[in-house]
Amino acid sequence: MRLLVVEDEARMAAMLRRGLTEDGYSVDVTGDGREAVWQATEVDYDALVLDLMLPGIDGFEVCRQLRAADRWMPVLMLTARTEVADRIRGLDGGADDYLGKPFSFLELTARLRALIRRGAVPRPSILSAGTLRLDPAARSAWRGQVLLDLSAKEFALLELFLRHPDQVLSRTVILEHVWDFAYDGISNVIDQYVGYLRRKIDRPSGVGARGSSLWPYLRWTLPILLNCPPNSCGRPPASAGRSWWTRRRPTRAGSAMWSRVCAAV
Ligand code: CA
Repeated sequence: MRLLVVEDEARMAAMLRRGLTEDGYSVDVTGDGREAVWQATEVDYDALVLDLMLPGIDGFEVCRQLRAADRWMPVLMLTARTEVADRIRGLDGGADDYLGKPFSFLELTARLRALIRRGAVPRPSILSAGTLRLDPAARSAWRGQVLLDLSAKEFALLELFLRHPDQVLSRTVILEHVWDFAYDGISNVIDQYVGYLRRKIDRPSGVGARGSSLWPYLRWTLPILLNCPPNSCGRPPASAGRSWWTRRRPTRAGSAMWSRVCAAV
């Protein structure tokens, strides 16, 4: 396993290099934020140990730039800044773990092992599809530049859809993730909330505006979503017939932009 240690304090950097090397890791060290971004972009590291206070750009910005560049190696922030606000900022900014100095070296290596087990899978802190964006930390969602006014359930539904691109979600799956045991499973509450969400998502671009609205695509996709069992292939219901399919096909305009939304929903 190859690590990049980003630490500008020479003694700490030397201690980390020695300890991690003895633990069996290949270790590169840099003390500069911009250099760290360059190295982590060029080399496929298995994890980063990232100090926050650095020359050039700070650790928050290093992490943000790496995630923006689609680099998803686990990042452990290791810093003397242990304010709760700093920890929240680091984790919401794309870091995977946060350890305050002074620290136990055994704990550091245990956390690194746990992070490396998870791998470098994409885990964006802001979810998006086309012009639709959702920030789980800020509890905010936008269509383009327009902030959407979503209720807690609508927000949870949208987050669920955006976290499962290329999947058809059945009512059962939606229930398991968005509702709790108190829901009796008999009423059509899911259909209602999906309807509310569809209207709010489309409002910023004008409901029914041909080529700019999500409506045609959601109308096309949601019957599939709500009528198919989990993990089905996303085809229309067998009873739908060709006219159903043709009627609900999206127009060519805008389809590229919304293809991911359709897939997500
Ligand atoms: Ca420092």
